[in-house]
Amino acid sequence: MNIVLFGGPGSGKGTQSEKLIEKYGLHHISTGDVLRDHIKRETELGKIAKSYIDEGQLIPDDLMIQILDDVIENEAKDKPGVIFDGFPRTIPQAEALNELLGKRGKELHAVVGLEVPDDELVKRMINRGKMTGRTDDNEETIKKRLKVYHNQTSPLRDHYKKLNKYVAIDGNREISHIFESISKELDKRSREVMSNK
Ligand code: AMP
Repeated sequence: MNIVLFGGPGSGKGTQSEKLIEKYGLHHISTGDVLRDHIKRETELGKIAKSYIDEGQLIPDDLMIQILDDVIENEAKDKPGVIFDGFPRTIPQAEALNELLGKRGKELHAVVGLEVPDDELVKRMINRGKMTGRTDDNEETIKKRLKVYHNQTSPLRDHYKKLNKYVAIDGNREISHIFESISKELDKRSREVMSNK
């Protein structure tokens, strides 16, 4: 199965991805991790990415889509299942993902939406910033990221609901309970996929 893990910044996408990788052996692509790796290696792309990330803004769609196309080509095209974590974040990115999968004979099976209230997201990111030193987890940038999320990313919820791919998960609970709900939903979806084959 190819799935998107969807949700605001700090909603637990990374944490739940780790558990999904372990249980289902899915390949994980986090666009945030890809960009942070470029920043660490001080590549040209890293310099561009840093200027957006530090401002809490999204990397422009054209560039981000090109990056994802390359990552899929280099590391995921032969994988039976992939988790997309942090992509798509805009409607054009969602349309691009459909094309990038389609041209490789694949499709997106489910979009798992981790639903968490804003005040909890802020708390979690402030905490993460203290624990990891992640530079965009500071109060000012967090505010900007939440605004970007509500304006540009959250419309994807309705987009995927209409396509019957959106699975809402209450992400404001204990990590293990959230994971149980996700597993249950994915198992159900995967049975449906198999029976349609
Ligand atoms: P994340 O680790 O997913 O929270 O991403 C950290 C930052 O990387 C975001 O605030 C954006 O600046 C950038 N980023 C990650 N994924 C994307 C994407 N799909 N489109 C645009 N920018 C992205």
